[in-house]
Amino acid sequence: RAKAEGRSTWRFFAPEMEEVVRVRSAIASDLRSALDRQELELVYQPIFAFETGRLRQFEALMRWRHPTMGYVTPDRFIPVAEETRLILPMGEWVIGEACRTAMNWPEDVRIAVNLSPVQFRSLQLPRVVEAALARSGLAAQRLELEVTESALLQDGDDVRAMLRELRALGVTVALDDFGTGYASLGYLQKFPFDKIKIDRSFVSQIETRADSVAIVESVVRLGAKLGMMTTAEGIETREQFEILRSFGCDLAQGYLFDRPQSFATIQRKIAEGLYNPAAREGMG
Ligand code: C2E
Ligand code: MG
Ligand code: MG
Ligand code: MG
Repeated sequence: RAKAEGRSTWRFFAPEMEEVVRVRSAIASDLRSALDRQELELVYQPIFAFETGRLRQFEALMRWRHPTMGYVTPDRFIPVAEETRLILPMGEWVIGEACRTAMNWPEDVRIAVNLSPVQFRSLQLPRVVEAALARSGLAAQRLELEVTESALLQDGDDVRAMLRELRALGVTVALDDFGTGYASLGYLQKFPFDKIKIDRSFVSQIETRADSVAIVESVVRLGAKLGMMTTAEGIETREQFEILRSFGCDLAQGYLFDRPQSFATIQRKIAEGLYNPAAREGMG
């Protein structure tokens, strides 16, 4: 690999790098059996309407309970899963599991699932989504797919065709982590997204940096004008919440309301009414 970077460029591995490489290849080989051994889990983070404080959806987030390493976070195993293309069967499992789970919730509560760019480029994706909806019995309008900007770095016609095909199934598509990558406003015009998720990095600076305030306010307005909903992710403080609400942002997600939780925990919280507006500190 080092050699491929240029004929006269030599790279020497420091011991720390050897450790990184070793852990990475351990992850790659263990990941192959993780699905079969049922070591993958989904946790769910609630998302609320700013205006009413009502629970609107959950985002499903993948966790890997490794037999010896304990919980491995997505930022460590998803890149490996993408390189090895194991993300395709793993992602298929995620979509199916998320749809089955959502069948246990009130009908006005939706589920959002993250898609890797690798999945988004797979021509099988619409059939995978369709099969998950059919098998679970979940109404298509209750499923949202989140894609990041990097999924859009391919032929624009292919992207548009995929988005059109997915939306024809009745699901909605959100542009995740907006503003972190190659964030071009042109994407919003070119591609038919239903929703923009404003990245946590802007939300976390909103109390201290005037430029973040300007960016977030503009994105919320732009979304409204283009007919797209806006979600603010990573809200941690009451001040951030109030500022975003004053801008007219639609949906709120973050540790201020709840961290991602196991299925058992959210079922209990829903049953006990803990996600109702009145019961929650921090909103309305
Ligand atoms: P994401 O889709 O942007 O998900 C939001 C991340 O922000 C989650 O991290 C969530 O736990 C975290 N978060 C939410 N609110 C707060 C907050 O108030 N403060 C802080 N500090 N963090 C907050 P997580 O679960 O570690 O996931 C990281 C990323 O891994 C996700 O970012 C997503 O890109 C990816 N990912 C997770 N699950 C899946 C999956 O099933 N498939 C794919 N392809 N990617 C996934
Ligand atoms: Mg997401
Ligand atoms: Mg995000
Ligand atoms: Mg993110």
